[in-house]
Amino acid sequence: MIKLKADYVVTMNEKNEILLNAEVLFSDKIIDVGYNLPGESIYLGKNSVIMPALINTHTHLEFSKNKTSLNYGDFITWLDSVIDSREELFIQCKGECYKSAIEEMKKSGVCAFGEISSSGEDLKYLKHSPLKVVYFNEIIGTNPAIADAVYQDFLARFKESKTLQSDTFKPAISIHSPYSVHPLLMDKVIYIAKKENVPIQAHFMESLAERKWLDKGEGEFKIFFEKHFKNAKPLIKPMEFLEKFENTNTTFIHCVYANDKELQKISEINASIAHCPISNRLLNVGKLDLEKVKNHSIPYSVATDGMSSNYSLNLFKEIRAALLMHTDLHPKYLAKDLLKSVTINAANQLKLNNGSIEKGKDADLITFKLPGKVKEKENIPMQIILHTNEVEELYINGKKV
Ligand SMILES: [Zn+2]
Repeated sequence: MIKLKADYVVTMNEKNEILLNAEVLFSDKIIDVGYNLPGESIYLGKNSVIMPALINTHTHLEFSKNKTSLNYGDFITWLDSVIDSREELFIQCKGECYKSAIEEMKKSGVCAFGEISSSGEDLKYLKHSPLKVVYFNEIIGTNPAIADAVYQDFLARFKESKTLQSDTFKPAISIHSPYSVHPLLMDKVIYIAKKENVPIQAHFMESLAERKWLDKGEGEFKIFFEKHFKNAKPLIKPMEFLEKFENTNTTFIHCVYANDKELQKISEINASIAHCPISNRLLNVGKLDLEKVKNHSIPYSVATDGMSSNYSLNLFKEIRAALLMHTDLHPKYLAKDLLKSVTINAANQLKLNNGSIEKGKDADLITFKLPGKVKEKENIPMQIILHTNEVEELYINGKKV
């Protein structure tokens, strides 16, 4: 058993309590949090913070080798560059590449991440990850002529990931997007997700090009599809796509161009959203309307996406970007929501038993120090986001990593 004491204990419990000069007692699970708990405590020092370790719900580590090869600034130009460089980047990313990607997340206090795997090549590197992994086997492909081969390849990958299922590794399913997967394939893998009770992630309404394509079969995507796939018709309407996810545990990634009706549907089917603000900015697709997302009572996480559309996998940098980008929202309250988005909301999306400091939760914790005393309690979340890049200690299931 370990008992830590810090000046600020950020619980992320339902009341969003921040306790001053409080203690956290834990073994592999959290035993208690509060005051005068039994045993000798280790005081973490002046201006110290204990909070739940962070969770990065959406990454593409296969792209971790990318630094400067992809074209940022415009969505379709970027997508073209992804298609051109994908193979090369995948081949270049081996052991060290995955290791350093995980190391960057670890240093920034991440205890778990949701990985989108399109090839299955990352499995051998991620099965020994020191961080918890929710491994989303992705299906992508619109050509009906090869649909069965695509499905068989998916099944083989999903089955292999299932053999590794453990406390720290969970298989899951990803449907790339409404524009890139044949509806028959969607149905098949959603059926599996329901049967196996695993979470789903799907990119949805990331760009204006996607909006125009799915609504009218027009715009930049028309040229893109004709060029790469000789396929010039969208295969599904956005609403039909969303309806497929009823009675599943699904997170829709991006949703920048989701309209009110679609947000309403996402809310009705109890799905959630992952927001990747830096990726959205770099691909110049605009900004998710967080106010609307909140008004529809949709819980959201913030995630880094992959190095394919980011310069870093540091989740504190990501929520700082969100804090500075969403100028329409009050920073004090947005900061509170952003801390939730990378802890308790993220845990709920990935179906993990962590993300808050409460009795019985996994002891996945981080500790770090603020540069000075915070006078007003309400300001603590914002100061944490402004001043934290790396943590001092990361505990996963009660063990220092
Ligand atoms: Zn993504």
